[in-house]
Amino acid sequence: MTEPIIRTIDLRGTKLSRAQLLETVPRAQMGVSQAEELVAPILEEVKSRGAAALRDYAEKFDHVRPTYLRVPVEAMNKALEELKPQVRAAIEESVKRIRAVCKSQVPSDFSTDLGEGARVSQRWIPVERVGLYVPGGKAVYPTSVIMNAVPAQAAGVESLAIATPPSADNPDGFPNATILATCAILGVEEVYAVGGAQAVAMFAYGAAGSEPQDGEVLCEPVDMITGPGNIFVATAKHMISGICGIDAEAGPSEIGIIADSTARPDFLAADLMGQAEHDELAGAVLITDDANQAARVVEELEKRVPRTKNRDRMTAALHGTQSAIVLTDNLDMSIDVANAYAAEHLEIHTVHADDVVKRIRNAGAIFRGPYSPVPLGDYMSGSNHVLPTGGTARFQSGLGVHTFMKAVEVIEYDEVGLKDLARKVNDFAVSEDLPAHGECVLTRFVSDPYDKETL
Ligand code: NAD
Repeated sequence: MTEPIIRTIDLRGTKLSRAQLLETVPRAQMGVSQAEELVAPILEEVKSRGAAALRDYAEKFDHVRPTYLRVPVEAMNKALEELKPQVRAAIEESVKRIRAVCKSQVPSDFSTDLGEGARVSQRWIPVERVGLYVPGGKAVYPTSVIMNAVPAQAAGVESLAIATPPSADNPDGFPNATILATCAILGVEEVYAVGGAQAVAMFAYGAAGSEPQDGEVLCEPVDMITGPGNIFVATAKHMISGICGIDAEAGPSEIGIIADSTARPDFLAADLMGQAEHDELAGAVLITDDANQAARVVEELEKRVPRTKNRDRMTAALHGTQSAIVLTDNLDMSIDVANAYAAEHLEIHTVHADDVVKRIRNAGAIFRGPYSPVPLGDYMSGSNHVLPTGGTARFQSGLGVHTFMKAVEVIEYDEVGLKDLARKVNDFAVSEDLPAHGECVLTRFVSDPYDKETL
């Protein structure tokens, strides 16, 4: 018997607890923890051997030893000159739309007056230096330059560096030309031909030693690393978090679709395939309360997959444990499954889609209705495509201006404001057995804060 193109998880007639539901939703077999063993030595090598290790890993994983690890600006300008006008127009459209959304995303400072001489304000301050990862292994993602750099620029980040794998198609190992041209369009001049976990290590620890003058600083460490990537990139980000900040763990792509009997099976199949094309570990999950719809989608997949270019990668992704058609009793159950799965991208193909959107708690981004397919968001809807994967959308947001900013509170009390609270602060401090906390407030108002008799 031939293996089905995608497995079915039949939940009809079951009543699962929250824990059982979380166990049941499809996930990739290789999770971040399994990849840690592979990534740990890469982080160590880059930390201790800098540029030499970066070159060795480029040779091993990207099959090229780059002439320059830091791409010369002239190479980026040349890539821009040679960019096809229609591709440039698409990049500019995408930049224009995401810039408009980012402008609305910039958070506002505020001040709250809490009585006489008592004010707390909040200021949003951009992160100073950020390393942006742009994937470029199996497919190249110039859009990830836009998705990372535009919000960072809107946030006011001063120092932006990009890392993306070197390309074996270029004799100098320069990264993909469209990626370089996009960097030039956005004015990002610090670009490294470094991919995978080694790029994350370079950003986290900094790296010394650039050819031809070994010993020079190649890359200064960053405060934060953002951007999507494969399992090795996501794992490396997870492992260095704490040394510097990271955004969400945006690993192998996922699509979840909630569909009812009214949805178009050809749209559903195409959209599942679109994300399965990214990676053998990409997840494609259809959640439906209509078994006939499920059968129609399988039929469409069987017709379509053999006809598309990246069918091998796609077939592997559809066969993986991370992909499935989940059959449910009704729309309520479909929504519960979708919330437990917490898809990076969730499409809604049902009647009353607005009501369904309101009931989604966990998703990286929600694509409402048949004419908001995920690839629109991948390229130029104006939304960001760097989104949390692997169920982390339960507690993380996708990339946006907020990712690159920190909220810092400013506390401004004057003598009147502090005096009003002095006794209460002291009472709290005593109750915590931290009397010096209280004494530092009392010092300002009594002659001897250590003489409890005088208080
Ligand atoms: P990539 O740039 O993420 O990875 C390529 C690098 O992986 C190589 O340079 C190499 O250093 C490293 N690598 C390859 N094999 C290795 C091994 N065996 N051990 C250690 N390191 C190894 O590009 P990719 O592979 O095409 O993956 C891009 C990923 O990004 C896809 O999974 C795609 O789904 C995902 N993506 C996610 C989002 C999101 O927002 N979640 C957005 C875009 C892309």
